[in-house]
Amino acid sequence: MNKRDFIKTSGTLAIGAFAASSISCGPEKKPEVVKENKQDAVKNGDFKLPELPYSYDSLAPYIDARTMEIHHSKHHAGYVRKLNNAISNTKFSDFALDQIILEVDEDPKNDSVRNNAGGHYNHSLFWEIMTPSNNAPAGFLLDKINESFGSIESMLNEFTESAKSVFGSGWAWLCSDNDKNLFISNTENQDNPMMSKIVERNGIPILGIDVWEHAYYLKYQNKRGEYIDNFIKLVNWEKVSQNLKDTPLL
Ligand code: MN
Repeated sequence: MNKRDFIKTSGTLAIGAFAASSISCGPEKKPEVVKENKQDAVKNGDFKLPELPYSYDSLAPYIDARTMEIHHSKHHAGYVRKLNNAISNTKFSDFALDQIILEVDEDPKNDSVRNNAGGHYNHSLFWEIMTPSNNAPAGFLLDKINESFGSIESMLNEFTESAKSVFGSGWAWLCSDNDKNLFISNTENQDNPMMSKIVERNGIPILGIDVWEHAYYLKYQNKRGEYIDNFIKLVNWEKVSQNLKDTPLL
């Protein structure tokens, strides 16, 4: 069984657990709430912008409502729209989102697919792993953090340093490998740790922070470190734990 067939038969990756409904994303259309199966946000061909699991103002004061609204309704919606255009009439047009991520490569003619599939996947994960009611790592996730890093503090220090060290735009990640051991990595632009033909260390992201300036500049300007510290206070570790449990092998 090849990788694509495996993913097809084993369900979806961490991204599978989206919000229960989606918003249509036409550029000029008034957002229309569409009740759909949660998997539709990652289904092939016609991707949709997933609804946030909370309101735009609910992550304040750490992330302000205006930043959330622009980030979700403009930036993320743009990735979804451009992804649908980019895959049209290509081999990717009947791929699920995680299949595109796994199979896209560094061929320059795939740049638009790579950037926008990454953009859609990364942001969909990002919204889900934040919550207004922060909680702490527990159970299997806590055991794995302690095994891999020694302590939560060590893991968070490494994560923070990795996020600070991204030059320009990108993401920092907490990833799982095939043995569910955890590691920290970062990627440039909208690349994703599952892009096996592109990234240095392949893994499944279970937590990620967007360090593009559009994610924090309105409130934090040049103070990326302060944004990262405050992001930690918003992490939904229960969801991260679920992502770790749900991840199939790569
Ligand atoms: Mn972003």
